[in-house]
Amino acid sequence: VPFDSRDGVIWYDGEFVDWKDAKVHVLTHGLHYGSSVFEGERAYGGEIFKLRAHTDRLIESARILGFKIPYSADVIDAACRETLSRMNLVDAYLRPVAWRGSEMMGVSAQNNTIHLAIAAWEWPSYFKPEERLKGIRLDIAEYHRPDPKTAPSKSKAAGLYMICTISKHAAEAKGYADAMMYDYRGYVAEATGANIFFVRDGEIHTPTPDCFLNGITRQTVIELARRRGLVVNERHILPDELATFSECFICGTAAEVTPVSEIGPYRFQPATITETLMNDYMAEVQPKPAAAAAE
Ligand code: PMP
Repeated sequence: VPFDSRDGVIWYDGEFVDWKDAKVHVLTHGLHYGSSVFEGERAYGGEIFKLRAHTDRLIESARILGFKIPYSADVIDAACRETLSRMNLVDAYLRPVAWRGSEMMGVSAQNNTIHLAIAAWEWPSYFKPEERLKGIRLDIAEYHRPDPKTAPSKSKAAGLYMICTISKHAAEAKGYADAMMYDYRGYVAEATGANIFFVRDGEIHTPTPDCFLNGITRQTVIELARRRGLVVNERHILPDELATFSECFICGTAAEVTPVSEIGPYRFQPATITETLMNDYMAEVQPKPAAAAAE
């Protein structure tokens, strides 16, 4: 079912509207000039994992683009939870999105109102389950993650996804599941909607997030790995090094922890560390009975 014709409700500027009525005008600044930021969250067992971290990032993404979301983090958190419950969802994906409205058209949009909407739906697995377990195949993208001086790379801004969609479509046309992007200096950066990790000789290596999102999943995985006593090296990774890694996986809210078997000409074999972190991550996202009891 297309996303504009589903049943249910969407939180829209402070109230719930019928899913099919949650519309914007065609002369909306966010649509024309990319003045839009969003989040991707997952709920497990009725609880949204690291909700406050996502809400804080949403507010910060907007701030980087120069606008202020007219709701507090507490109001946004409550709206996310209520959207989930009004949709009768337990395991779900949530999409808050904020954008500049339609009062002014043109590059300048000083007087435009800021809107916020939150939708929730079931989104079981970002990659096909059968592909996911044996490892997905990644193409190497032609576009590079831009220099932070060229684009607001720390914002989860809709406009930055332009190169992601182009890269993912090019990869899919060649039969790949996704694409790995280098950064503007030529270092390994990330996939089109997830961060990337490698394993060599029992140690983990992951790119320093200095020109792309330091994903909430990425930070969780690093913490889980260190809890296991694993060494995690956050550093710049050169393309040549891809030949030296044995395991590779990507991670993100939608992708969770997904093993990678190929990146262009390079081959990886999902093994113990990937499997351990996949399992640890799935255990970590479950609501904690102790925390629930304390509330
Ligand atoms: N990089 C990009 C480009 C993404 O779209 C995402 C998903 N939000 C991530 C990394 C991972 O971020 P997170 O773990 O916070 O979902």
